[in-house]
Amino acid sequence: MSSYNERLEWEYQDYLKQRYEEQQAAGYDGVRKIVCGGCGRVFYTTIYTKKYCHSYWCGNQANNRRQREYRQIHRQDLVCQCCGEKFTPKRAGARYCSNACRQKDYRKRVTDAASAQNEHLDKRNVSTK
Ligand SMILES: [Zn+2]
Ligand SMILES: [Zn+2]
Repeated sequence: MSSYNERLEWEYQDYLKQRYEEQQAAGYDGVRKIVCGGCGRVFYTTIYTKKYCHSYWCGNQANNRRQREYRQIHRQDLVCQCCGEKFTPKRAGARYCSNACRQKDYRKRVTDAASAQNEHLDKRNVSTK
């Protein structure tokens, strides 16, 4: 969208820097000094929405990093459905800290279901007697 302005501004960094410094002295800010959110480079811009020195490459880089961080945070937050321990899942949608827990929980469910059924049968047996 602003790639033309972006290219233009790259050619005028020295000029923008100079203007920025003049404006700082005058106490107003048409030119902004920005640390790129993607590569960390300092640059000067008059584009209001600009966050990255290169909106495509550095914007992508920053997005990827954010996504990675987001995923990491979510990974750390998972709690095993079986033993209640926090764990780092190896894949999305994991609910157990280990195969052992997964199997244990599965067996527990099966046993619960079976015993619930047995109880039901027992009651019926009792009532028919
Ligand atoms: Zn950058
Ligand atoms: Zn577990």
